[in-house]
Amino acid sequence: MPMRILAESDALPLTASIQCPACGSAHVAQVLGDNGGVSYVCTACGHSWS
Ligand SMILES: [Zn+2]
Repeated sequence: MPMRILAESDALPLTASIQCPACGSAHVAQVLGDNGGVSYVCTACGHSWS
């Protein structure tokens, strides 16, 4: 069961390693926010974060 701590030194937003912080799924879509920032949406549980 992969658990990833995003506060570690590998905090760079590498899409391939992003996992949902809510359910741990790797089915994460990268979306652009209104302010030009990048947000993430889990396609498994619907959780969104940035
Ligand atoms: Zn999720």
